Amino acid sequence: MERTLVIIKPDGLQRNLVGQIISRFERKGLKMVGMKMMKISDLKIEEHYGKYKDKPFFKGLKNFMQSAPVIAIVLEGLEAIEAARFITGSTKAREADAGTIRGDFAMGLQTNLVHVSDPKEDPEAEIKRFFGAEDLLDYDKIDFRYLYSSDELG
Ligand code: ADP
Repeated sequence: MERTLVIIKPDGLQRNLVGQIISRFERKGLKMVGMKMMKISDLKIEEHYGKYKDKPFFKGLKNFMQSAPVIAIVLEGLEAIEAARFITGSTKAREADAGTIRGDFAMGLQTNLVHVSDPKEDPEAEIKRFFGAEDLLDYDKIDFRYLYSSDELG
C-alpha cells in the first residue's frame, strides 16, 4: 500500500478552496491518514524545494510558501502516488487538464494550489519531513476491503 504527501499551498487557504481540494482527494477514494495545518519553517522549505535552491524563482517560492499556513495531508491507497498526481494536474496550472484540481481552479505556475509527492523524490522521506509516526493514524476503511480483495492486485 502506498502513501503520498499533499500540501495545500497558501493560495488554497487564501482562495477558500481548502475544502474543495480535500474533497477531490477524498471522493477519488484516497484514505486520509494524517493531516496538519502549519507554517513551514525555513529549514523545511529548503529541504522540500532543495533542488530549486539555486533557481531565480526560489526566493519567491519560499516567500509564497511561508505567506500563510499550509495544510499537509498524508494519503494512502492503491498506487496512491500516481493517483494523487493524476487528479492534481500538471505544474503550470493554466495548461493543466480540465477536471484536475489545478486545471479547474488555478492559473499560476507558482500559485498552483497543491504540492503532491513525485515518485522520483521519495514520498516516504517527504512524509517524514512533516509527520512523525504518531501523527499517522491506522484505521479500517470499509471500501478498501473490496478494492484490495479484487483482481487488480494481480
Ligand atoms: P510539481 O509541484 O508539479 O511537482 P515541480 O516539482 O516542478 O512541480 O515544482 C515545484 C513547485 O515549484 C511548483 O509546484 C511551483 O509552485 C514551483 N515552481 C516550479 N517552477 C517554477 C517557476 N519557473 N517559477 C515559479 N515557481 C515555480
